[in-house]
Amino acid sequence: MLEKNVPVYIAKCEGYDDCGALETLLDDAVERTCKTEMFQGKNVVIKPNLVRKMDPEKGGTTHPVMLRALISVLKKRGVGKILIAESPGGLYNAAALKQVYEGCGIAKVAADTGAELNFRCEYGDVKAPAGKKSKMFEIIDPVRNAEVLINLCKMKSHGMLTQSCAAKNFFGVIPGVKKFEMHARFPDSTDFAGMLCDLNEVLYERAKILNICDGIVAMEGNGPTNGVPKRAKVVLVSQNSFCLDLAAAKIMNIGTVPELLREGILRGYCPGEYGELNFIKESPEHFVVTDFALPDSSKSGALKKILTLNGGRYARFLEPRPKIDEKKCRGCGECVRSCPAHTISFRRSRKKNVAYIEKENCIRCYCCQELCPFDSVRIRTNPLIRMVNKL
Ligand code: SF4
Ligand code: SF4
Repeated sequence: MLEKNVPVYIAKCEGYDDCGALETLLDDAVERTCKTEMFQGKNVVIKPNLVRKMDPEKGGTTHPVMLRALISVLKKRGVGKILIAESPGGLYNAAALKQVYEGCGIAKVAADTGAELNFRCEYGDVKAPAGKKSKMFEIIDPVRNAEVLINLCKMKSHGMLTQSCAAKNFFGVIPGVKKFEMHARFPDSTDFAGMLCDLNEVLYERAKILNICDGIVAMEGNGPTNGVPKRAKVVLVSQNSFCLDLAAAKIMNIGTVPELLREGILRGYCPGEYGELNFIKESPEHFVVTDFALPDSSKSGALKKILTLNGGRYARFLEPRPKIDEKKCRGCGECVRSCPAHTISFRRSRKKNVAYIEKENCIRCYCCQELCPFDSVRIRTNPLIRMVNKL
């Protein structure tokens, strides 16, 4: 169950060079945020953030040293089996998982520590009778059947939701391309955030959950995959994903409450102000990254909100939209396969096939930007917004 106002443990960590120091930090965090019985003799599923195959030094995926330290802490607590399970963006099959586990440096940690990597790609329905946006979810089997679930997320900016930390990381329990179906079902970001709240609630009903957010090297700018690494030197741990995200939003210096967090606050999952949270060890004020860059897609936020007051007639028109950088596009087709609105096709340009977005049907989910392996999708701010911003 998602209990309100659960404490958030916050501690400083300079980098990933010293696995022993990280292990000490996580040991202390687990000790002070959980009861020992939560892990003893239990099979534990670790849900990392492996959105796609990426060098972990880029800040977009769970860092292998973080995982290694966590496994060591869990073993000390006498856990049973440790299973690492993720459904990255794109296909959900053993070959795709292998590529991601290896490319993100996770496979080596599993081999060294004896933790198991999930390659079984079954999934099933989970009912959400209390869901406000979705009454049913398809969820990957390891998470569906988990007794104890550790959400090992990253601190990142996010094109659609501004922030991706603990609550958003659970979207990765939806199998492969089913995620695109969810984007198509909930094209509006507020509805999408509501669906994610339902998903969080359903997971909390099924398993005991601990969230660990790696903000040692976070991702700023066009996250969750095409941003740049940003050293925030912080680790946050809490049993409540929304309390953790509220503390993280302060550290990321996000002025307007991000959409998913706003929905969580409205539903009473966490307090409305970070000052009402309880902290263990440190307070977020000590870690605020004043120049943390938000995604291009969030840049028209304030003005867009004003315009939505007028019936929202022009808001859609003014939203930032994705645009293919034809010089960089290599025609790999990842965005064509991933677009939930099926609005990307190929065309010939510069003597090669490049992706082309039919903008009328675009639902602004920014999956194309998230999944392009060559950083070829830009987010274009409406010229009117650009002009107003300069005034
Ligand atoms: S935009 Fe990116 S994902 Fe799409 S075809 Fe070009 S390189 Fe591939
Ligand atoms: S073009 Fe990109 S942002 Fe638009 S619907 Fe397709 S994947 Fe989403």
